[in-house]
Amino acid sequence: MDITSILRDNGLKVTPQRLAVYNLLASTKDHPSAEAIYNKLYPLYPTMSLATVYKTLEVLVKSGLVQQLNVGENSFRYDANVSSHSHITCIKCHRVDDIEDNLFAGMDTKISHSTSYSIINHQLYFFGICPHCKQPEQ
Ligand SMILES: [Zn+2]
Ligand SMILES: [Zn+2]
Repeated sequence: MDITSILRDNGLKVTPQRLAVYNLLASTKDHPSAEAIYNKLYPLYPTMSLATVYKTLEVLVKSGLVQQLNVGENSFRYDANVSSHSHITCIKCHRVDDIEDNLFAGMDTKISHSTSYSIINHQLYFFGICPHCKQPEQ
């Protein structure tokens, strides 16, 4: 289903800002913050304010089109991949990468057995130093 029909199904207007924010997120694996989204869109949409970007993200998260990640910084990061997947973040440069979920194969079943919960979703965050930041200073 495309974003236009999802927004309409949620009773939301399809605005150029909503499309721009969503399309930007859908075209990147960078997991940008609201500020980073704003900085990228500003040259194309000079009338869009940072407050609009925040409001737009809130709408997209509520509609289930975008997931909000709390990677332990003060600002949230955003991901148009709303499937259940885990993330790793660099404590130095704050980049956020996806972790292939097949590394956690069978984990939901194990957690379910040990807690008696039915697992619906999981969200794991790992923290470390990325390959780029690990390089010795020249
Ligand atoms: Zn790094
Ligand atoms: Zn992700």
